[in-house]
Amino acid sequence: MNNKITKFCLPALLGGAILSCPATLLAQPDDAALNAYPSYNETDLEYTYDADGNHFNLWSPGADSVQVRIYRNFNIAEPLKVLQLNRTEKGVWRVSDTSNLQDCYYTFRVKFNGKWLDETPGVWAKAVGPNGHRAAIIDFSKTNPENWVNDHGPKINSITDVIIYEMHHRDFSVHPSSGIVNKGKFLALTEQDTRSPQGLATGIEHLKELGVTHVHILPSYDYNSVDEMNLLSNQYNWGYDPYNYNTPEGSYSTNPADPYSRIREMKEMIKSLHEAGIGVIMDVVYNHTAGIDDSNFTLTSPGYYYRHRADGTYSDASGCGNETASDRAQMQNFIVNSVKYWAKEYHIDGFRFDLMAIHDTETMTRVAAELKEINPSIFVYGEGWTAGDSPLPVERRALKENVAKMTGIAVFSDDLRDAIKGHYSNAADCGFATGKPGNEETVKIGIVASTAHPQVDYSKGNNSKFAYATSPKQIINYVSCHDDLTLTDKLAKSMTGADKETRMRAARLAQTIVFTSQGTPFMFAGEEVFRDKKGVHNSYKSPDSINAIDWTLKAENANQFEYYKQLIRLRRSHPAFRMTTAEEIAKNIVFDNVKESNLISYSICNNANGDEWKEIKLVFNGSAETKVVKVKKGNWTIVAQDGNLNQDGLGDTNGGKITVEPYSALILYRTK
Ligand code: CA
Repeated sequence: MNNKITKFCLPALLGGAILSCPATLLAQPDDAALNAYPSYNETDLEYTYDADGNHFNLWSPGADSVQVRIYRNFNIAEPLKVLQLNRTEKGVWRVSDTSNLQDCYYTFRVKFNGKWLDETPGVWAKAVGPNGHRAAIIDFSKTNPENWVNDHGPKINSITDVIIYEMHHRDFSVHPSSGIVNKGKFLALTEQDTRSPQGLATGIEHLKELGVTHVHILPSYDYNSVDEMNLLSNQYNWGYDPYNYNTPEGSYSTNPADPYSRIREMKEMIKSLHEAGIGVIMDVVYNHTAGIDDSNFTLTSPGYYYRHRADGTYSDASGCGNETASDRAQMQNFIVNSVKYWAKEYHIDGFRFDLMAIHDTETMTRVAAELKEINPSIFVYGEGWTAGDSPLPVERRALKENVAKMTGIAVFSDDLRDAIKGHYSNAADCGFATGKPGNEETVKIGIVASTAHPQVDYSKGNNSKFAYATSPKQIINYVSCHDDLTLTDKLAKSMTGADKETRMRAARLAQTIVFTSQGTPFMFAGEEVFRDKKGVHNSYKSPDSINAIDWTLKAENANQFEYYKQLIRLRRSHPAFRMTTAEEIAKNIVFDNVKESNLISYSICNNANGDEWKEIKLVFNGSAETKVVKVKKGNWTIVAQDGNLNQDGLGDTNGGKITVEPYSALILYRTK
């Protein structure tokens, strides 16, 4: 979610639950009492199975009593049996059962302050029935695709080598022009050689052709808003309304009523992407839950997992009615063990944390460190802001300004985003790439990945006034994402009077700045074919007619796609754009003294980061006028000019005065 943009979360759907007193009517322990709860960091919580049978283990230190209710099916009201759990050490209640419970379902009930709460699948359900109301007991060995044991994502040395493509399952595959059979499903990304009506590659072939290294998929854990038993209605949601954190969303499977389906099919998708050499990033939303009185956190341990204001009410730094409390030991354990579970069970290659600054810096550092122990190629990044105030002190928040206090965490640069295209929430506002003066220094901040540089004056930055990053590995550069207007729509609303070709040129310039900047580039799916969302800025529950990518655009805007492809190829071929330390950036990037507005000229020198190109000159002209720059004498090869880009060369020059056309990048290099 974006900074300062609130998405409205729907209340949790009730189904098959025993009604009892709502949690809000319960007197909850105060913060001091909650903070004193013992924590438990083992991974056997809620359900395990071994030679001794089934083990149910619920963490609920404040409970008076705990039951597990076992059912034959996901919708039969009468339980097969009800077992009483016994209080043991560290707040964990336990009971074992030796009968065969394969393919049964279970819920917990917690008695709290003398009242039985509603049933809950718990917070650790790894398999669930439809809409996630009951946890399912399944054989996980049957969920693995063939040869899953040998599956792994791409190995990376540095996050700066990654190119992130942010996509939503439905956006990407649901349009009739996708040529994909399993539209809007995990399986969409397992289909090979799918084509648009014009015969151009779609689906996974399209991703391979484009050249991105990782896909960042919008929330794929079990979320609340889409009714999994009514999928024929045109339901769409981004999924920032978590319900069960540790099992996939049912509506992306071919059969939500079969607990195996969502798990097996998500793994099939991941394996298919891995076989294409593409990593998979999960968008995780531990910062809030869909509902609160009926959330699984509340129903297992009332009060504990959320922050409160001084008056005892729930605080709301998420803008969705609540915020979780990573500063409490068991919530921190939950986040850490949850991402580790996804990394191990599903082979996830990276995590994007929504509203990450609701979490504390210590938790995020622990997340990164424990993931790296599983797989050194895993990386973590997030939104370094909140959507409202929080009781968590500013200095402890995982804010972008605090990124240097964390280890192994990157943050989105809203600095570069807004400087290139104009303010994210003011549709008419322009930026550097669309002709508005005054953004030059902030674009330079983006170019050096928000690290200290002798030629960059942070006091002139639009958003941040200091070099908050100590390494380019801490910065994700982008110009647009699922939030707010797509780049296509933003340009249509801000470059009023410009024709489509001009707006497409501005889009190319905008992404050229992103993809040649230090840090890690990130793009929103479909912008390579100039997709729009019909001007809708917050499309979180808009229908497919707004959100779907129309793949006929790939032929219609073929030049745009070719440019993006070449831009990605350029970055992947040249380590100079992917330096790994702030010191290298300060030494190798030299800005030219340019006085004109909407014009930036700089060089990446010294065969930076082992590049075969000795010096790369980049000039960005974000104005409507043709500019002339002076390039020193030498044997230069031009790779980008006048809206075209090809690293194999567009021509040669000996330097001197070179024109730079409106809304375009000039890039040239010399090898000696
Ligand atoms: Ca769901």
